[in-house]
Amino acid sequence: MTEKPLIRINKLNVEFPLGRTLFGKPPMLSAVNDVSLDIMPGQFYGLVGESGSGKTTLGKAILRAVHISSGEITFDDSDVNYDVGSLAKKELKNYRKLAQLIFQDPYAALSPRMTVRDIIAEPLEVMGLTKTREETDERVRDIAEKCRLNLEHLRRFPHAFSGGQRQRISIARTLVCNPKFVVADESVAALDVSIQADILNLLQSLQDQLGLTFLFISHDLSVVAHICDHVAVMYLGTLVESAPTRKLFDNPSHPYTKALLSAIPSLDPDDRGKSQKLEGEIPSPANPPPGCKFHTRCPLAEERCRTEVPQWRELSKDHYAACHLV
Ligand code: SF4
Repeated sequence: MTEKPLIRINKLNVEFPLGRTLFGKPPMLSAVNDVSLDIMPGQFYGLVGESGSGKTTLGKAILRAVHISSGEITFDDSDVNYDVGSLAKKELKNYRKLAQLIFQDPYAALSPRMTVRDIIAEPLEVMGLTKTREETDERVRDIAEKCRLNLEHLRRFPHAFSGGQRQRISIARTLVCNPKFVVADESVAALDVSIQADILNLLQSLQDQLGLTFLFISHDLSVVAHICDHVAVMYLGTLVESAPTRKLFDNPSHPYTKALLSAIPSLDPDDRGKSQKLEGEIPSPANPPPGCKFHTRCPLAEERCRTEVPQWRELSKDHYAACHLV
């Protein structure tokens, strides 16, 4: 029997109004445009692209933190099946126990007035998942140990901790409700490089222990290569390439993916100077270029790229790209 995706996204569009008008509909900004992808159970799914590519909005749409303009997101676990876009209030509350977010900034995410114990316990209390204080304390201690926090630290306040320790607290708070699916949005970007490796190893070990599925959003391809088993590349709200990590890194097809990969610093002296620099800025999603959205920056762009939208095609097993020339 073939395995079913935990998250299936089908032709998803997320739009935001640009200001208000007295009459009629205001012009719309398309943040996510016609995106389809599957995230399999237990997968560490990477989503990469420059700032402004729509990665965070896509993550928020899966968590139903933004309105879905059209298309479908389904969450299909062994016990429950949700059409995420049309969840009523009670179902949404249940869904939020299963699908959670790890915040980017461990300094802003933790209330300075609460102890670490109270910060981690808060989601359990808000969602009514435990009946007694003893039960809450047991859940807090259990997840704190899994996140390699010292139990004596539960009585302290966040200001006493370093960035890496705060991110462990933030991760413990996210996982205390036993979610199945976690969006980690730039979760190591604010940390020093040595601490990043430590947190990435922790996420991998938590995935194994708890059977989690991750959507890992990052602008840093070297981090994604380290931790993800599948990667999708986004540009200006659309997917341009998607493949298992090794395939994407060994054999990138889309010019945008190639440019992102060649920007990773190499230790090999032969590779220096070969980098294919990305010229210009990403255009505004309020006024995206016609045809292939990447044509204003693509070194290979030809006439039809300015008018024809490239189709999303399978190049080899599980390797997809949208470019007229691949
Ligand atoms: Fe470049 Fe044309 Fe391919 Fe777009 S479709 S990535 S502009 S070659």
